[in-house]
Amino acid sequence: MNKWINITLPDGSVREFEAGVTGMDIAKRISKKLKKAAIAAKVNGVVVDLSRPIEQDATVEILTFDDPEGREVYRHSSTHIMAQAVTELFPEAKPTLGPPLDDMFYYDFDVPKPFTPEDLAAIEKRANHIIKQNLEFKRFELSREEALKFYHERVPNHYKCEIIEDYPEEETWSFYQQGDGENGWVDMCRGPHVPSTGRIKQFKILKASGAYWRGNENNKMLQRIYGTAYESKEQLEAHLHRLEEAEKRDHRRLGRELDLFSFHSEDAGAGFAYWHHKGALIRELVENFLKEEQRKRGYIFVVSPHVVSAELYKTSGHYEFFRDNMYPVEIEGEEYFIKPMNCPCHVKIFDTKLHSYRDLPVRMAEFGTVYRYEKSGVLHGLLRVRGFTQDDAHIFCTEDQLDSEIRGVMDLMEFIMQKFGFHEYKVELSVADPNDWSHYAGEPAEWERAEHSLVQALRAKNWEYTRHEGEAAFYGPKIDLKVVDALGRPWQCSTVQFDFNLPRRFGLKYIGSDGEAHMPYMVHRAIYGSVERFIGVLIEQYGGAFPTWLAPTQVVVATITDAVNDYAQSVVQQLHDAGFRVHLDDRNEKIGYKIREHTTQKVPYILVVGHKEAEAGQVAVRKYGAGDQGVIAFTEFLAALNAEVETV
Ligand SMILES: [Zn+2]
Ligand SMILES: [Zn+2]
Repeated sequence: MNKWINITLPDGSVREFEAGVTGMDIAKRISKKLKKAAIAAKVNGVVVDLSRPIEQDATVEILTFDDPEGREVYRHSSTHIMAQAVTELFPEAKPTLGPPLDDMFYYDFDVPKPFTPEDLAAIEKRANHIIKQNLEFKRFELSREEALKFYHERVPNHYKCEIIEDYPEEETWSFYQQGDGENGWVDMCRGPHVPSTGRIKQFKILKASGAYWRGNENNKMLQRIYGTAYESKEQLEAHLHRLEEAEKRDHRRLGRELDLFSFHSEDAGAGFAYWHHKGALIRELVENFLKEEQRKRGYIFVVSPHVVSAELYKTSGHYEFFRDNMYPVEIEGEEYFIKPMNCPCHVKIFDTKLHSYRDLPVRMAEFGTVYRYEKSGVLHGLLRVRGFTQDDAHIFCTEDQLDSEIRGVMDLMEFIMQKFGFHEYKVELSVADPNDWSHYAGEPAEWERAEHSLVQALRAKNWEYTRHEGEAAFYGPKIDLKVVDALGRPWQCSTVQFDFNLPRRFGLKYIGSDGEAHMPYMVHRAIYGSVERFIGVLIEQYGGAFPTWLAPTQVVVATITDAVNDYAQSVVQQLHDAGFRVHLDDRNEKIGYKIREHTTQKVPYILVVGHKEAEAGQVAVRKYGAGDQGVIAFTEFLAALNAEVETV
């Protein structure tokens, strides 16, 4: 007898189906269009293959390329196609891991030698052949033992065995096969996948590079191939265009070309930035801007030492939990560490006084340089370094003050980020795992109170956010803010985190209006996050063309002839006196050459002066990115420049 089940669709409608119905059946029933676009099904919140039978009443959504989860399945399936192509062309290649990324995917292979561009072209061609064959993706399961046997004997691959051995509790492992019988290509995988290889429309190999097995430089170097896949040619082309743009904006390259900073991995240590004068100038401007804004908003600034005894980190708990990331030093036989974070130092400063509730909130800030161990394999320009400066602050306050303090932090975040042209944010709220309170510091009621103030502030700002249970650190809930740059890429910057651990460990207190001692709330917050990282992000955001207020050189005055040097000098002097960063180019070079050079350096304004301009007290203005702006009176230019810098 047939059993009937109720399927609830995203529009809220409920339809009756026979038990055992699949996502594909449902898609077909809804429309021909959806059947064509379907990639996977989401059954009661879990993404599964379109062929997976549904036996009980369920809520079902059919995922297409428009859904992030649909795209993930699409790209994940593409990695399998790529891996099949690689092993068909290079039978000795051992596929290891191949996850989808945001807008591309990769797969790491153990191969005797790196792939050449010709190899990559051949792999792309082969992958397109596999797509044309429209091989079905079929799922099957093996017991742990069978799975190990499969990778020991049938398709020897010790990487896959290692993965299985890492999860002794997993009793069955799922596999996917593309194609039939002996010719089928099999990979161990959780899935899900598109129904068949032909579902992938635009497949493209992007590049290859070396990558260590599991990111550990002590392991074997594998070859990673990146690719991407889209539904339409236009989408693929837009992606390739974005990559090209990103390449042009790469902060490591621009850092070199614009003479901002350098790294000296070989002879001075990897992961430590050297700031040249132009880069240091930008840094100073970025820091001062935030410093001033914080002063206006009632922050006080402190300075804490760079080397701290192990004792302090034993009290704070970092000795126990964070020691592997800290650099030890020895002083008179005692254990010290180079400071990996500022918090315990700020707590020490707070604790030198007995605070009354009237003294709170205390908003204690420091541009504190910290050092943390990072594997050399993950270092990346200014984005991932071993020494960086946090725009750190710790807020100590009463419960009554929480809402306005958190709101104040978010107002500051928004104000600062808008100044740099970031108007779109991705916000994540991380809270405790409600089913397991065993390893969290503080009481559930405090966590709730903290979350309430975070959510209140997010609502007041009208910021959409996603909530992640179990993602918070053990010491408190937090909000992370990613800014979206000019190319639509998100970058992690600001954070605001509660801490229920340190106030307890250090026994912090204040005297309340009731005359009793209470524990203050403690909040960590950073707006830029790391100054190094933030400037790396800014370089990519602006493509190196800093806005006038931030440009290391704001104006270049370039002479056409020596005869106007006096006039040029007086223009430079007046700009200098008005507080602008200005440079005189009176070299004996052709004006076209001078303009090209300063344009390459992305200087916002070049003022060209010749006889005509000198006689009339004028300048010929060239604006970066906009070209020739015509000849105007110098006084007029100066007024406009002042206005521009003040209003941005
Ligand atoms: Zn897979
Ligand atoms: Zn902190």
